[in-house]
Amino acid sequence: MTKNIAVIKGDGIGPEIITEAMKVLDAVAEKYGHTFNYTQLLMGGCSIDANGEPLTKETIDACKASDAVLMGSIGGDTTTSPWYKLPPNLRPEAGLLGIRKALGLFANLRPCVLYPQLSGACPLKKEISDRGFDMLIMRELTGGLYFGEKKTETVDGMQVATDTLVYSESEIRRIAIKAFDVAMKRRKKVTSVDKANVLESSRLWRKVITEVAKDYPEVTLEHMLVDNSAMQLVRDPAQFDVMVTENMFGDILSDEASMITGSIGMLASASMNETKFGLYEPSGGSAPDIAGQNKANPIATILSAAMMLRYSFDMTDEADAVEAAVSKALNDGYRTGDIMSEGMTKVSCSEMGDIIAKSV
Ligand code: NAD
Repeated sequence: MTKNIAVIKGDGIGPEIITEAMKVLDAVAEKYGHTFNYTQLLMGGCSIDANGEPLTKETIDACKASDAVLMGSIGGDTTTSPWYKLPPNLRPEAGLLGIRKALGLFANLRPCVLYPQLSGACPLKKEISDRGFDMLIMRELTGGLYFGEKKTETVDGMQVATDTLVYSESEIRRIAIKAFDVAMKRRKKVTSVDKANVLESSRLWRKVITEVAKDYPEVTLEHMLVDNSAMQLVRDPAQFDVMVTENMFGDILSDEASMITGSIGMLASASMNETKFGLYEPSGGSAPDIAGQNKANPIATILSAAMMLRYSFDMTDEADAVEAAVSKALNDGYRTGDIMSEGMTKVSCSEMGDIIAKSV
């Protein structure tokens, strides 16, 4: 198969971690007889330096013309970098918001996996972390409270602020379909998180999710209130497979779920539109404190590339092979600095990439 991948290395550790992900993709291409064509594009701080703006039309058009986008991270040190003296719409992060909007990415997928080899980094009790967990949070990204009408007014001499939480049936249906499609590629369980006991938008959410579930008889659906979900995540995270929820609940729960995995350098993510098209990136930022030192953990980016293989290219065996290679590297005791522990072998970013690519 031939696939065209738009590559945005970005700033800080972005170029280092993407180079390792491409190394692993090249190993996949060689083993399975595929061709991956890469188009390298600028976005974020490096685009500000080259073009005077964080996101150009050229980058957007090239992303749209590709089969998927692989991205490192963008941004610099927010206190010292000259990029942060620019108006907000010209700063690196404006590129990130701009590309998500331009590509219509409404579903954010964040797998949260506790590898048994790294269970010591999990802040939960040992009897919980020993069981491990492997879940995926699917967060609606373009609707809800963050995008509803907002205002602050003075009523009877008192300031009153209002945010509006709006969801249409079609917005809920498209994310529900995405969640069930993803669950079909995993353990076939969907937990839909809402606050249907008090919110109208949640009652519509629950109704539409239940309707969509009828098209997926193999998938088990459960509904859970958001407050209970926050508790269950730390009490028994192994119970979850795919958790689907609206924008703000997802924002909070995905950070909670990330925290219990122990390391930001291990967290992959994807943002998708209605088709198989997606933008794949690690959850962490550009880590200016370690940039250019060959110290970054490339695993989150390599696992994001595995998600690209699985969800955009339908290359299940290839994605499994990359994930297995990551597990093997951890089993064999290789660790970058951020996940280092006693008795393990410390490796650089590029050495970790070499080890994983070789084992693919
Ligand atoms: P950060 O995620 O870059 O760094 C937080 C800490 O985690 C740092 O100590 C860093 O060294 C460490 N870290 C992050 N990724 C790592 C990796 N792969 N391997 C090892 N250690 C890693 O967050 P920050 O310092 O708050 O932000 C730095 C810059 O990144 C800012 O400009 C911010 O706006 C930007 N940012 C970009 C994205 C993105 O591109 N999607 C996301 C978050 C932050």
